Amino acid sequence: MRTLITNATLLDTVPEPHVVEGDLLVEDGRIAVVGHGLTADHVVDAERAIVMPGLVDAHRHVWQSVLRSLNPDSTLGDYLDLVLGRLAPAFTEDDVHAANHWGALDALDAGVTTVYDWSHVPHPEAALDGLREAGIRAVFAHPDRAALDRLRPPAHITLALAATGPVYGPVEEAVHDWKAARDRGLHISLHATGTGAVESLHRHGLLGPDVMVVHGNGFTDDAMQTMADAGATATVTPAVEAQMGHGNPETVRFRAHGVTTGLGVDTVVTVPGDLFSVMRAALPGTPAAEVLTMATIEGARAIGLDREIGSLTPGKQADLVMISTDSPGMAPVTDPVRAVVGSAGRGDVRAVFVAGRRVATTSAAARERAERVRARLTV
Ligand SMILES: [Zn+2]
Repeated sequence: MRTLITNATLLDTVPEPHVVEGDLLVEDGRIAVVGHGLTADHVVDAERAIVMPGLVDAHRHVWQSVLRSLNPDSTLGDYLDLVLGRLAPAFTEDDVHAANHWGALDALDAGVTTVYDWSHVPHPEAALDGLREAGIRAVFAHPDRAALDRLRPPAHITLALAATGPVYGPVEEAVHDWKAARDRGLHISLHATGTGAVESLHRHGLLGPDVMVVHGNGFTDDAMQTMADAGATATVTPAVEAQMGHGNPETVRFRAHGVTTGLGVDTVVTVPGDLFSVMRAALPGTPAAEVLTMATIEGARAIGLDREIGSLTPGKQADLVMISTDSPGMAPVTDPVRAVVGSAGRGDVRAVFVAGRRVATTSAAARERAERVRARLTV
């Protein structure tokens, strides 16, 4: 099937964010060509809209969608105690399915076409099914090695190890987990702040381009350089980190050391589920164009999917977001890159495509299910 997107302001992200002239042809789910004089049976008119690669959320706990805004005042300690300590174990299989479906719609509705779902809740099959049902592209990370062996994800979802060690578990466990993940070619991601984690990973030979460290607040320059030398990547969740007390977000320092850095929402318990507000939180010290890069191609690189997504390069997956430019909050647009980073919000997202297919971004049935889970769980 061929789809032609016409009349758009096309925004590509490589080699840096810039407008490209022409129309965009999608064929069999992939970007075929950007140019003039193209035809197709199916035409999408993107008048008064920016069309760009879908946003990449490199770190989110999708299952927490049903706990949305439970505690915007929460510190990291409050969150660990209530959400992970008391609520997570209470999730049934149905709860996880409902929560992941609704959380994936939250992401899609805000133009996020790929999410790295760090799923530290029981019932991974149900979580994976929720993502699949929403139609979002995802990296599904889970700590349970046996589950990772058993899960059979669809083509647009890849599996990863959500590692607990060496920060939330013993380093010996990390060594075993890493070996199992690497034997299977799985991406690996872990939470870490302060000193000790990178040093320990390095000592045990665990760092590499397949490892993504989330947060990194307070890492020493040496630790960041060690990551850069090993090709390890980072994801910063600046809105959550500033709010929950992790420390200053480290996008500027990571990138100064040459560490590929993505952006993430992390948890909607505390912050909104859109990457636009996360981009705004990442702006201090970083030019808008580079922030947009982190939310697209650099995020894709951080999670190991840059050969498939993150730019309008022909051959890549047609994961696209169409952002209206005619709302009172967007017009007048003088520079599309700055408009997206500086002003766009989820209300401006007109259409979202994953693998060339326009996806639904909400569902009354999914919302009602999520509300029922929330009513039962809320403390
Ligand atoms: Zn997290």
